[in-house]
Amino acid sequence: MEFFGHIIDGDEVTSASDATFASVDPYLRQPWAEVALGDATDADRAVTAARRAFDEGPWPRMGHGERARILHRLADLIEAHADELGLADTRDMGKPISQSRGNDVPRAAANFRFFADHARLSTADTLPMDSGHHTYTRFEAAGVVAAIAPWNFPLMLETWKVAPALAWGNTVVLKPAEDTPASATILARLALEAGLPPGVLNVVHGYGPDSAGQALTEHPYVDRITFTGESGTGRIIAAAAARNLTPVSLELGGKGANLVFADANLDTAVDWSIKAIFTNSGQVCLAGSRLYVQRDVYTEFLRRFTAAAEAMMIGDPNDEATQIGPLASREHYTKVRDYVETVESEGGTILSGGLGDGWTVRPTVVTDLGQDARHSREEIFGPLAVVIPFDTEAEAVTLANDSHYGLNAMLFTDNLHRAHRVSAALHAGTVWVNCFFVRDLRAPFGGVADSGIGREGGNFSREFFTEPKAVVIQI
Ligand code: NAD
Repeated sequence: MEFFGHIIDGDEVTSASDATFASVDPYLRQPWAEVALGDATDADRAVTAARRAFDEGPWPRMGHGERARILHRLADLIEAHADELGLADTRDMGKPISQSRGNDVPRAAANFRFFADHARLSTADTLPMDSGHHTYTRFEAAGVVAAIAPWNFPLMLETWKVAPALAWGNTVVLKPAEDTPASATILARLALEAGLPPGVLNVVHGYGPDSAGQALTEHPYVDRITFTGESGTGRIIAAAAARNLTPVSLELGGKGANLVFADANLDTAVDWSIKAIFTNSGQVCLAGSRLYVQRDVYTEFLRRFTAAAEAMMIGDPNDEATQIGPLASREHYTKVRDYVETVESEGGTILSGGLGDGWTVRPTVVTDLGQDARHSREEIFGPLAVVIPFDTEAEAVTLANDSHYGLNAMLFTDNLHRAHRVSAALHAGTVWVNCFFVRDLRAPFGGVADSGIGREGGNFSREFFTEPKAVVIQI
């Protein structure tokens, strides 16, 4: 079995306690890697290394150009190791290799390139004042960043945090999810090869509560906590951060509403709606899991949507042609299976899909459930779409906004006025019109209500990972 250690102060190391845990391949349903199991001692070793690298090391003192050169080298190395990194995520959590190697790895490289250039080219206002003073802004590195990541897009979401943190001169301790440890260690190995000084990017493995994760959020040397994961975990982390007054950014759960109006191009709507709910077996915070369809096209949309869902290739995630792999772990499969098995007792109908082999759930289309059903309200995080008809635009907006979550929404219409009007009315951090998942890394990304606090991306990441300082000067 392969071994993945912590990366602390430039070395790959075991835990102080020598404890390890297994990472399980959810397709084979057996362990494929042994991983160092960190605890508070290991978290402290990593934070101490990051603190020293920040206080005394060259990284925060380099110019943006020199840092950018190293981060671009890291992006090149990520691309050169696409097979290894893609396979690591696929073995850890069953994501089809065409998505991990074909989408997540290039996006990870793009994250480093984008934030390296964004920081280097960033400008700041100088304000000439009536009094004759001038005020200008310096964006100074915040310090030690603790980055805590989920398992659904392991490498991609880790780099979404690590890249801006490093580009702005911080040092980082990354804790990947316990289900997906491998690609984080590989990333940190590559970062050292790219020339990142020791202690600048540390990785500590372990669990959340009473483990490495909790220890990081409580550590007094940590200056920023950036977290992506469940809303419940976000509340716990926000409370821990509050005790040290540590600024925290929370990217949390979602229950994306997807509105299909009768005036939409139905082929476009079906194609994107399939991607929105079934990509990554529905294990996507942005998943379009509540599908509202205007009654005039409800039957025709459902016919096409169900046919497309049934045509998806289910199977071995290592096979290039596979579109749906297993769910990420036994624990997660058990949770999603419960939702599938309770559709009918809640009054719903499974039009297509259901449980598959092993830990797989087939693309599942559910009708006849109301807005208040558990399946319509809770984040299932699996390949299950609840489809509900609506009559008017106002009703569609009300249904979409009737959620504790507010990460994103999609709408399909060929009416430009409706597109703008409804986009403005939806309570969501991102609205996609006639598309899904298209991202400009300069744009704000984050959610309202239970979907999070703060935004990341472009200048929003700059605001979070720096201390903006106003300098007022009498000339
Ligand atoms: P999770 O909250 O269970 O775990 C996320 C991370 O937090 C893991 O690394 C875990 O070890 C750690 N953790 C857990 N408890 C902790 C604690 N008390 N202190 C410190 N760390 C702790 O989430 P998950 O199951 O890994 O991920 C799925 C969730 O993530 C879904 O709700 C999904 O919507 C959300 N998500 C959100 C976004 C977004 O951008 N908004 C993106 C992807 C996933």
